[in-house]
Amino acid sequence: LYTLGVDIGSSATKAVILQDGCTIVATSMIPSGAGTSGVRRVLEDLHRQSRLSLEQMSNIIATGYGREQFSPARRSVSELTCHAKGVHLLLPQTRTIIDVGGQDVKVLQVGEKGALLNFVMNDKCAAGTGRFLEVMARVLETDVSKLGELARLSEQRLDISSTCTVFAESEVISHLANGAAIPDVVAGIHRSVAKIVCGLANRVGILPPLVMTGGVAQNAGVVSALQERLSLPIAVSSMPQLTGALGAALLGYEQAC
Ligand code: ADP
Repeated sequence: LYTLGVDIGSSATKAVILQDGCTIVATSMIPSGAGTSGVRRVLEDLHRQSRLSLEQMSNIIATGYGREQFSPARRSVSELTCHAKGVHLLLPQTRTIIDVGGQDVKVLQVGEKGALLNFVMNDKCAAGTGRFLEVMARVLETDVSKLGELARLSEQRLDISSTCTVFAESEVISHLANGAAIPDVVAGIHRSVAKIVCGLANRVGILPPLVMTGGVAQNAGVVSALQERLSLPIAVSSMPQLTGALGAALLGYEQAC
């Protein structure tokens, strides 16, 4: 029995085909989100990998910001439920999930069976999100995927005092104009993200073990800045950006049974 989970985010579209609720048959991630060709392209990619069609899916669940746009879905489910489900499959001991995506930050408390107990979310401004990092990467003429590596080369502490994306961008430009080393600026940017995320996490309460999900969990610099600020270890699964799509596919399986 095959089930499909599609997570249409603001920055990227992700999809997972699960067999019998436990085996991942195909996964896809296209870095363009809601309102773009992202959905069509992930479906083509999944078909190329698995040779399975939508008709062969026993259930299809959509999640993410653009979840209502995907008409083949039998149901749309909030990202919160899907992330909790996906994390429970990968790391069942988890009690707190920190999800940093393209345009929001969420901190979720989960119970023993992966049920969502409580959450807080910042979706009002870009501070602390993947978009903030995308803006900074552009100013630094690099790619978001390189920021983690760059931060590791930092030798001198440099703090970005403004958390607002627009003001922080000006601050970064002025640091660069004053000859600051790029790795130091990047590490400062990561600490700024960690500060926002930590403020949010403290509002909901942090219970270990912690897991970070979402595209930004692939940035080792943000993960380590956050670990330092929280003084707690944070686990990252092998595919943090696919957690929501995986959870959607798993929910699809549970409903189909
Ligand atoms: P959404 O669900 O809102 O589309 P995602 O969870 O897919 O968001 O995360 C998108 C964010 O992930 C981007 O804004 C970017 O900052 C970050 N990101 C994506 N790919 C990478 C990568 N290879 N390395 C580090 N960060 C990444």
